[in-house]
Order: sequence, then C-alpha cells, then structure tokens
Amino acid sequence: MSKQFDVVVIGAGPGGYIAAIRAAQLGMSVACIDAWSNAKGGPAPGGTCTNVGCIPSKALLQSSEYYEHAGHHFADHGIEVKGLGLDLGKLISRKDTVVKQNNDGILFLFKKNKVTFFHGTGAFSGQVDGGWSIKVSGPAEEELVAKHVIVATGSSPRALPDLPFDEKQVLSNDGALAIGGVPKRLGVIGAGVIGLELGSVWRRLGSDVTILEAMPNFLPAADEQIAKEALKVLTKQGLKINLGVKISEVKAAAKSVTVKYTDAAGAEQSLVVDKLIVSIGRVPNTQGLNAEGVGLKLDERGFVTVDEDCRTGLPNVWAIGDVVRGPMLAHKAEEEGVAVAERIAGQHGHVNFNTIPSVIYTSPEISWVGQTEQALKTEGRAYKTGTFPFLANGRARALGDTTGMVKVIADAKTDEILGVHIIGPQASELISECVVAMEFRAASEDIARICHAHPSLSEAVKEAALAVDKRSLNF
Ligand code: FAD
Repeated sequence: MSKQFDVVVIGAGPGGYIAAIRAAQLGMSVACIDAWSNAKGGPAPGGTCTNVGCIPSKALLQSSEYYEHAGHHFADHGIEVKGLGLDLGKLISRKDTVVKQNNDGILFLFKKNKVTFFHGTGAFSGQVDGGWSIKVSGPAEEELVAKHVIVATGSSPRALPDLPFDEKQVLSNDGALAIGGVPKRLGVIGAGVIGLELGSVWRRLGSDVTILEAMPNFLPAADEQIAKEALKVLTKQGLKINLGVKISEVKAAAKSVTVKYTDAAGAEQSLVVDKLIVSIGRVPNTQGLNAEGVGLKLDERGFVTVDEDCRTGLPNVWAIGDVVRGPMLAHKAEEEGVAVAERIAGQHGHVNFNTIPSVIYTSPEISWVGQTEQALKTEGRAYKTGTFPFLANGRARALGDTTGMVKVIADAKTDEILGVHIIGPQASELISECVVAMEFRAASEDIARICHAHPSLSEAVKEAALAVDKRSLNF
C-alpha cells in the first residue's frame, strides 16, 4: 500500500529540508526523501551544504585560520607560541563531527515537525489518482503518493572533460575537504568562491597553492574595486592567482598532476602539483528522477525549468535550489523552499532576488548585496558612492585586522541604497544590516543616522553611508 502525503520533497539539502519543515508547520502531511549516506551507510540529510559544502568548508576555514594566527599573528599581540604543531587528522575529524551534528540536527527537526523521512532515491513513477506516485529505492523501499512534489535535488561538481574526479589526485570539493596530508604543491582550477575558500584552507596549512582561472577578470560578479583589493590581499598572502589562462592538457599520474596551459601573455606553461582541485562550476542533479518519463522539462543546461514562483510545467510539481536557475547558494535554496511551501498552502511566499547576499569566506571575508558600480554604469543609472576603510575603524584596529573597506552605492537622486560591498573582518555578518536596509528600501541617509554600537565593525558601514554624502566623521 502506498503512503499518502500532501507534500513529498525529493532532496534534503537546505532547500528541501527547509521546505519540508515549513510545509509541516503549515499543517500539511510531509515526507522528505534523501539519498545521501554517511560513512556507515546511515542517512546524512543536509545535502551538499551540510556534507561537502558550506558547513565543512567553514569548519576547515576556521581551524586553518586559528593555525595561521597562532603561527603568524599571535606574536603581534605579545603571545608567544612555541612548538606549534598541526594534527591534520584531528582537524579533519573535528570537521566530520561538525557535519554529523548538523545531520543529526536535521533528523531531530524532522521528528519535531512530524516530517516523515525516507533514506533513499526518489523518482517519479507517474500521475495517479490523488497526485503523483513517487518510488523510493535504496535503503528505504516505498511507494508514496503526493498531492504536491517539490524537487530539491541540488547539484554536483562539474569535472573537466576526460578528467573524472578520482578524489586522490584530482579532487572535487568532496575530496578537497578530506585530504589526508598537507600537499606540498596544490593546484586549483577555477578562482570562484569554492576555489578561493579551499585554496585558502590548504595555503594556511602549508601548501604552495597555484590557482588557474580562465576569466581575465578576478571575481567578475563582485564590485571591481572590491575585487581588485581582494586580488591584492590574497596574492600577498601567498595564493598564486593566474587569470586569463587557457588549459590545454591535464594529466594525472600516480603521485602528481601536470597541467599544461597558455598564460594571459600567450606563453605555454606547465604546472606540476601533488593534488589538483577542480572547481569550475556545478551541474544540476536530475538523473534518476525519471524526469523524461513524466515530461519534467529541463533547460539547455540541464536545470529544471521553472517560472518565477518555482512552478515546473507539471501540475503541482515545484522545483527549488541549485537544481533551478539563479545563484547556487544555500540561503537562496532555503528562501525558495519557504516560499513554495507557503504557495502550496495558498499563501503568497516571495523571494527577492535583488537582496540575496553573496559571501566569500576568505580572510578577509568578501560580501555584497545589490548592484555593483560597473553594472550601474552599464545600465546608465546615476549613482553616488561612499567608502570607509577598516584602517580607520577602532574595533578593527583593536582586533589587529584592518584590511579592506565598506562601500555603499546609492541612487544619485533618491539616495536609495542600490548596493553594498564589503571586504574586511566579519564581512559575512556585516552584510546582513545592508540586506535589511535594502529590503526596506532604505536610503544611505537612514543607515548614516542610525546609532551603531561603539566600538564595532558595523560603524564602518555607518561611516561608508555617511561618506555617500561626503560627511564621514572618522576618515
Ligand atoms: P543540495 O544541498 O545539493 O541537496 C540536494 C540533496 O538531494 C542531496 O542530499 C542529494 O543527495 C539529494 N538528491 C539528489 N537526487 C536525489 C534523488 N533522486 N532522490 C533523493 N535524494 C536526492 N552556499 C552558501 O550559501 N554558502 C556557502 O558558504 C557555501 N559554501 C559552499 C562550499 C562548497 C565547497 C560547495 C560545494 C558549495 C557551497 N555552497 C555554499 C553552495 C551550497 O552548498 C548549495 O547552494 C546548496 O547546498 C544547494 O542546496 P539544495 O538544497 O538546492 O541542494
């Protein structure tokens, strides 16, 4: 006998598990299916984000930053560290513990919210009386019937043509988060968020890291002024970032990988590394869903086609997160999950794509929301900017972390904030104030007149807002 639910969610990444919880909160009967298994074969809900993405990368970034601070920065504070050592096994197993806490947390939340969880792969069988028939196979074997289906199957790392990931020499994010010994020479293909974060982890732990990037500009999605500063700082830290390269050949041997490429000046180059991380983008997960069998439409890049409300072309079938268009970010997936659950309940869920923040967790962190200066120039919109350096912020000086700046961009006439761009300490946290301001369509004057605690890094946001009107007080 098949089990009946109001909503069946396929995938328990940040999009899927949040959609399932919100739907349950709204009084619907909900099942969530997820295929991810832990090392013991048990369920590991949380998707890419929890298992091999956001959470483990931040755990390693934190540990490696402590290591670098102990080795290089504690002395500035008068703290002497003698006999500093690295227990990489412990560092990695701490990361695994953090991941497991998150997996367990999601299973607990499912129980608390009465979401029925199935560990296995979900596929459409077809339309039946009362909705969609979904077959679960794997550890759990079930036949479910759902009035509504939410596809939240996420994405997987893109490999280079003819160079599959072996996770020994040629690593995806998965292998790059679990290297058994610090590689002497590490290559990274792709200077995007993942490449920069993972490259930073291993550089801090002692690797000589070379990053090869095909694009001629560094971080083209970021504001140019911030990207320029980021390139300068990260290069100074020791990341060798080569832009505008064209890779001609990658050959993996038993203990090394050779990458042949043409550099930006047109010269032939050869890079030999012990391990190579390939971070050139991600592909949507739709195989195994029986998409074709039921007529679930995919676009030319393989993403599930949806309208702005995340409706697919099939009745009562929705899709959210990395498997559909838009930025591949956990918080974007979550917001779509909440909005779809609310739409199913007859409410008016909404996701504002203009105020989705972007963060790169390097040191210093980089974050932004809204438009860049270069985009506004292209659009021909008149704007004004204000910047404030952390060098002039008392809290940043006390922290000993004064790199970077805050930049506020506002409409030239109305003063509405159009974008905020930050490179500096705690940029990931500072951006939230700016997201709230933009969501409420605040003017730069609003932030400039709001009392900010002293001494705090957030004063740099206020000062940048004051600088829009050329009345910065501390610079
Ligand atoms: P996923 O998290 O990919 O989850 C999909 C789930 O569905 C998986 O568990 C998968 O096994 C399961 N699944 C697939 N097919 C089926 C099926 N047929 N049946 C059952 N289950 C199925 N984003 C941020 O916002 N901040 C960050 O700091 C950040 N850091 C990242 C670092 C790295 C190294 C990587 C790789 C990604 C990072 N991301 C980050 C991106 C983020 O992980 C994704 O945007 C997010 O996980 C997408 O969520 P999702 O729910 O759409 O899909």
